[in-house]
Amino acid sequence: MSGGRPGESRRRAERARLSTLVRGAVLLVATSLTIDTVGGHMSDGPAPSEASESSSSTPTTSPPPVTLVPLASTPGAAPVITRVETTDPVVFLTIDDGHTRNPEVKAALEELGVPVSLFLLDGPVQADPDFFRGLPDTLVESHSRTHPDMRTLPEEGQRAEICGNADMLERAIGRRPVLFRPPYGAYNEATTRAAAACGMRAIVLWEVSVNGADVGYRTVPEFRAGDILLMHFRSTFVTELRALADRADEAGLRFALLEDYLVPDTVPDSGG
Ligand SMILES: [Zn+2]
Repeated sequence: MSGGRPGESRRRAERARLSTLVRGAVLLVATSLTIDTVGGHMSDGPAPSEASESSSSTPTTSPPPVTLVPLASTPGAAPVITRVETTDPVVFLTIDDGHTRNPEVKAALEELGVPVSLFLLDGPVQADPDFFRGLPDTLVESHSRTHPDMRTLPEEGQRAEICGNADMLERAIGRRPVLFRPPYGAYNEATTRAAAACGMRAIVLWEVSVNGADVGYRTVPEFRAGDILLMHFRSTFVTELRALADRADEAGLRFALLEDYLVPDTVPDSGG
């Protein structure tokens, strides 16, 4: 029997998080990407946005200790990303849906010190908000209310799915999401507008997906810095997470939080 001692693991998680935050200014640009087939589902891609390189450093007096990746975006449309263009040795874990809520998840995340962005649906969160509120070093983001293929909905319907989910998450979790992952990775141009209208900084797809022992890579067969990884809560989640953490270790990569890296291109007024 093995067992992670919570005290030590919490410290580890904190260290991991801190090292992310302390990384400082590396010049980074949000990817404008080519979206082909993502996990077998697809989208007719919207016009790709150009990744504009802004190598200017922070002019403000505030102390943002985080490595920021400005998201190049078209006004009124959320940018779509599958990975983060960073030279930091980091990868980003994301978990979708929330249907299976294994009580061992919390301890495993603590022990391994892995921060996660959770893209959750209405149903699982309403069924068990405490489970998600109790997970360490996680942020909850939007995955729509009911998991439709967004392309089948008119823009208004897409907005209802995203904004409605965001409203619910804000009430249940206490923080309004800033990222949206379309179910199946399927979206169209209306999705980018609907996401922006609902206050989403970006539409987040993925580069690597984990299905049991299967690790699928979208473009290259290895972990790279900046990859966004997709998992689901399953009964085998803890085993999968350990395997993934080992793999990242071997590749010399650590886990960081997407939200620490992705920031709006410009900060000005956007109505709350
Ligand atoms: Zn999903």
